[in-house]
Amino acid sequence: MAVHLADLPPDDGLNPAQADAEALLREPREQRPVHRRELRDELRALLDEGLEEVSAWIEKTIFLSKHTLSSVHGCEVRFLHELEQPFAPSAAAVKGAVAHKAIELSVSSAGHSPGKLVDGALTRLANSEDWVGQWLAGADELDRAEVRSMATDRVAKFAECFPPLRSGWRPVTESRWAAEFHGGKIRLSGKVDLTIGGCDGLRAGKVIIDFKTGNRSLTHVEDLRFYALLETLRLGVPPWKVATYYLDSGTFAVEVVTEGMLEAAARRVVAGAAKLAELREGGRTPVLQAGPGCSWCPRFLQCDDGQRARARWEEFG
Ligand code: SF4
Repeated sequence: MAVHLADLPPDDGLNPAQADAEALLREPREQRPVHRRELRDELRALLDEGLEEVSAWIEKTIFLSKHTLSSVHGCEVRFLHELEQPFAPSAAAVKGAVAHKAIELSVSSAGHSPGKLVDGALTRLANSEDWVGQWLAGADELDRAEVRSMATDRVAKFAECFPPLRSGWRPVTESRWAAEFHGGKIRLSGKVDLTIGGCDGLRAGKVIIDFKTGNRSLTHVEDLRFYALLETLRLGVPPWKVATYYLDSGTFAVEVVTEGMLEAAARRVVAGAAKLAELREGGRTPVLQAGPGCSWCPRFLQCDDGQRARARWEEFG
């Protein structure tokens, strides 16, 4: 079929992947939901009540992040094993921090190449005193080159598939959110890759975006629902949408945030806190749960269940 230039839509400077991403962010205001003012108090009451029993007997504070929650709701043997190991930063973890910093810099430095943004991020992070700065200070040339290469790949994919972040969209990267219950005995926290937009009174407007490499996973959905809960507890108005953006494929998994979703997320937090406390202090026998993550489990070589499960998955392709 012949296509004439006159039939083509006007060029907005965006490729189709960028245009798809922008469409996510540009629905008319009247299509965004307006929430009830009481919602935050109701969620807080649900969490207060659900966490009361466990907070009464635990000896140490429980910290719940998206990673802790997905771990404790997965294989309990792996969860306990990792709980006992001291935190050891890896090149892969540092790469994520560097890439996020570079994306943050791209908001104020439009037009810079991914490599230049990553170099800027590396310089800034190397001067920080947190674990990223400490890792970079002790890294040799090869480690730094590996981080630079991985982070540049991630930032290049972001720049190719995501529309340029305009300051009018109010983009915020690496925002930290937290909530406390029962005098700080139970603490929830999260760090969001990117948020765009904001609420308008009780009308939702913020989009929370998490960037992932690799394949889709159900835990990514749960991670974002947890963030939506944190934002609602903080602000009283839920985000409008939560989205995982898969950098390798340039595709989104998007959900509009609903009250039912937030209530389910709160109940998952309550169940996760109880399980964590029982595993850590209550003598609960951990249950093995083989899954797709077995291949990356530090106990894989000692675990017959995990090895059998992987053999089955390989057999069935
Ligand atoms: S290999 Fe799989 S089943 Fe075994 S401990 Fe690790 S996550 Fe659990």
